[in-house]
Amino acid sequence: MKERRACIIGNWKMHGSAQMIRTFFAEFFAALASHPAALSGIEWVICPPFVYLPHILENLHQLNNLTHTVSGSLGAQNTYSEATGAFTGEVAPEMLRDIGCQWVIVGHSERRTLFYEDNTRIARKFLAAYDAGLFPVLCVGETRAERETGKTWEVIQRQLEAVFAIAPIESLTTAVIAYEPVWAIGTGLTATPEQAEAVHLAIRDWIAKRDPCLAATARLLYGGSVKADNAAGLFAMPNIDGALVGGASIIAQEFFDIVKSAKARI
Ligand code: PEP
Repeated sequence: MKERRACIIGNWKMHGSAQMIRTFFAEFFAALASHPAALSGIEWVICPPFVYLPHILENLHQLNNLTHTVSGSLGAQNTYSEATGAFTGEVAPEMLRDIGCQWVIVGHSERRTLFYEDNTRIARKFLAAYDAGLFPVLCVGETRAERETGKTWEVIQRQLEAVFAIAPIESLTTAVIAYEPVWAIGTGLTATPEQAEAVHLAIRDWIAKRDPCLAATARLLYGGSVKADNAAGLFAMPNIDGALVGGASIIAQEFFDIVKSAKARI
């Protein structure tokens, strides 16, 4: 377990404002001031809407400078598969790197369903992000109907195969996979630790067939209604190395407590 550093990623989705960010960091800092060592050794990331990336970066710098023990970093919620060109409204991975972004979410179920991103598009985005030096967070997961008809693994395997047909499996040295059952995202219905662990184990076995060493070190996060009161149970599972957190990540104390819960893995 120890060779995999716990990682908690906050996906703010389309939430936030300059004022909300000031309040969030004031509260986050206050939580940290009362528990100074609570987050040490844990990697945590905030992924705000594009326009707020510089605001978050500035706040992370201030927080990291003030505390010296905290390692928060910046992520984007989306990117494009090309480096430059006539792609109105898109943002290239190189641009994200350029402004100090380290991570990017790829294949989120909201992108798959609301914006019609298919496995081919997602694979190209993953590869472009990896090639640009970003750490991709690849989201995979089944719908409720797919789970109920016994297709969970078939769907996830297809999602993984599409990406790793074009991206090297070694990308998992820096990239992480987030198992996010679609039925658990934003619904308040969390997968049980056992349900999540079963899928994580299957993903790790899938990686092991391609590279046994990587299977031991690749980080697998769970996402889907993670909250401060269910995080510890999930993080107690041997193959759950952290979380991708949506709704709870915009509440400073809640996000702080979720990150803190990952301490048990260190
Ligand atoms: C997400 O957006 O990736 C997510 C898991 O959302 P929530 O935590 O709100 O279910």
